[in-house]
Amino acid sequence: MSSKDARPRATDTKKVHIADTQMTRQNWYKHVNWLNVVLILGVPISGCIQAFWVPLQLKTAIWAVVYYFFTGLGITAGYHRLWAHCSYSATLPLRIWLAAVGGGAVEGSIRWWARDHRAHHRYTDTDKDPYSVRKGLLYSHLGWMVMKQNPKRIGRTDISDLNEDPVVVWQHRNYLKVVIFMGLVLPMLVAGLGWGDWYGGFVYAGILRIFFVQQATFCVNSLAHWLGDQPFDDRNSPRDHVITALFTLGEGYHNFHHEFPSDYRNAIEWHQYDPTKWTIWMCKQFGLAFDLKQFRSNEIEKGRVQQLQKKIDQKRAKLDWGTPLDQLPVMEWDDYVEQTKNGRGLVSIAGVVHDVTDFIKDHPGGKAMIKSGLGKDATAMFNGGVYYHSNGAHNLLSTMRVGVIRGGGEVEIWKRAQKENSEYVRDETGQRIIRAGMQVTKIPEPIPTADAA
Ligand SMILES: [Zn+2]
Ligand SMILES: [Zn+2]
Repeated sequence: MSSKDARPRATDTKKVHIADTQMTRQNWYKHVNWLNVVLILGVPISGCIQAFWVPLQLKTAIWAVVYYFFTGLGITAGYHRLWAHCSYSATLPLRIWLAAVGGGAVEGSIRWWARDHRAHHRYTDTDKDPYSVRKGLLYSHLGWMVMKQNPKRIGRTDISDLNEDPVVVWQHRNYLKVVIFMGLVLPMLVAGLGWGDWYGGFVYAGILRIFFVQQATFCVNSLAHWLGDQPFDDRNSPRDHVITALFTLGEGYHNFHHEFPSDYRNAIEWHQYDPTKWTIWMCKQFGLAFDLKQFRSNEIEKGRVQQLQKKIDQKRAKLDWGTPLDQLPVMEWDDYVEQTKNGRGLVSIAGVVHDVTDFIKDHPGGKAMIKSGLGKDATAMFNGGVYYHSNGAHNLLSTMRVGVIRGGGEVEIWKRAQKENSEYVRDETGQRIIRAGMQVTKIPEPIPTADAA
């Protein structure tokens, strides 16, 4: 088939999915999932317009907020933490309740939602992630639903456990009825039968409440992969942020969640906002939930320490620690003495030669003091013989290294120290770690006697 003639031929057995074709000015509308456009954009817009005519009553407003929490928790505590991650077990009445109110959030059936979400965890940030933030923030928030996706591209996941849960299966089969009743009819019935506000119940507790619950959940896919810190692992996009948590009933500690997905908590500190965790815990107190899963804090802290270490390594790598010893030229002692006599400001400490010519005038202990060490072995002077130099001084000195004395200099003690330091500690990128007090110029035991030269 030539490139100009792109029409499918009658002999083509496999049809190319629209999502796998280039979007053009002629075919863009075929790429759009119009049903979802109506459901997640058209319906809320119609709700906003109707709100101009329908006055908001206080009782209806309170009911809309309450129902927002019920349906939102149906998604976070039900769809997400119970069914997608099995982070706890629930009794039949609780499962029926969560399947009902979760359906009222109008985000698809449990079966469909949990399958996509498992793929999202398994293939985070890849092409198989159904709402990968790598395709853009807007894509991860809305685009993945508004634009058609080739279902074959979404990563495969095992949902056999969900197929065995009769509540999940029933909800999936009767999804349309569940959505209409729980999403619109029930909120309208409560406001209508309760205080006569049928239309207000429909617009505020129904349509607009659905809009807010949907947008909040979409934030877990977008905002939680874009805003905040990564205290446990920064190789993928999930992040922790209190703002996301406030929007999403506690799902904002998303870096933690991707590291420890089967933990029933998202926030582990008592002061962090995680009403979903509190709800599950309350259900346990009433005997409705059991087997709440929790990672040991030892495991959680290990992840935190490793990530901190990584950050420290990155900071360390940006600093000047001086030329590594094995890359310095070897100097003969006599050559070192000779060069100093010729006016070069060299000082040997612990067998390492430093060029301090430009530093003499800045030496905090005065010019005379530093000059007295030039051309000599100043190991003992530097390490307490004359003045017991600070850690900062050893660090600064290391940046002035220019050579090493053959045989490690004249000082026996250095040879011992060198032996002890021979096994360098290195970070994962192979950079040598020089801890405070571990510099090569530092002699472990300060030398009390003066005049090593
Ligand atoms: Zn995620
Ligand atoms: Zn999850």
